Amino acid sequence: RILLTTVFDQYRETVKGVAITVQDITREVELNEAKSQFISNVSHELRTPLFNIKSFIETLHEYGEELTEEERCEFLETANRETDRLTRLVNDVLDLSRLESCKRYHFEAVDVSQPIEQTLRTYQLNARDKGIELSHEIEPDLPAVVGNYDLLLQVFANLVGNALKFTESGGKVAIRAYVLQSQFRLKSVALQNQPRTVRIEISDTGIGIDQEDQEAIFDRFFRVENRVHTLEGTGLGLSIVRNIIEKHYSAVHLVSEVGVGTTFWFDLAVFQEAASLLGSLPAVD
Ligand code: ADP
Repeated sequence: RILLTTVFDQYRETVKGVAITVQDITREVELNEAKSQFISNVSHELRTPLFNIKSFIETLHEYGEELTEEERCEFLETANRETDRLTRLVNDVLDLSRLESCKRYHFEAVDVSQPIEQTLRTYQLNARDKGIELSHEIEPDLPAVVGNYDLLLQVFANLVGNALKFTESGGKVAIRAYVLQSQFRLKSVALQNQPRTVRIEISDTGIGIDQEDQEAIFDRFFRVENRVHTLEGTGLGLSIVRNIIEKHYSAVHLVSEVGVGTTFWFDLAVFQEAASLLGSLPAVD
């Protein structure tokens, strides 16, 4: 963007010259484009279940009498499933937009074993129903990390939910948490010298993700085209995960092999060391 500004000489009341300001607005344009793309995707995604629900209601209304009891039940069940899908979509869109607009989250010392155990309690039944072994391994005396409990709970729920969704009966899903004594560098400059982090891994023995899709799966609404595609999902789960982990000054990584399984992992700063390094609790701005 180029701005031209006239500069006046206030004593002589004449024009002294013209100032030219050149601004790089690539990022601004990109953000606007991403936003319009997102809105158009959301509208499209919302329209599909709405259209289905309306069609089922109309058919039931107009031809209900001619349908068998079984057919009527099937129609109602499908409409109900579509309503659930719509609810999930709206919730995910709201979560994502809240994450993107809320600049400040409360960070505190979080014992990660708690959100992990809460996630396991939530998903244990689902895993048993699917015939998948869901386990966890948390290093004893794991130090607390810098985190936001609710956001971390959402990360675990999304990653474990996906792992179960994309793993077949007889498979395994495991969560691991351990201290990493390494030179791993977190994104934030303020935390770069921090010596220890807690590494979290969520692994499955599921269908795996092709190398060429491994970056795109974090994009909003991206879902790998495969036979599992019809399973419930919004394509927003991993965008939410990435956003949350970035708010924790970190990044999500994955290793995956088709037909073998996938491991998502990320590191979180150890609270005690990060807090003393910064002199106070870190805040996102
Ligand atoms: P969805 O609601 O479709 O699960 P996500 O953003 O959570 O959306 O995931 C995007 C896509 O990434 C999924 O549709 C799936 O194709 C792929 N994916 C995510 N997690 C896994 C996994 N553990 N194993 C295999 N594929 C996965």
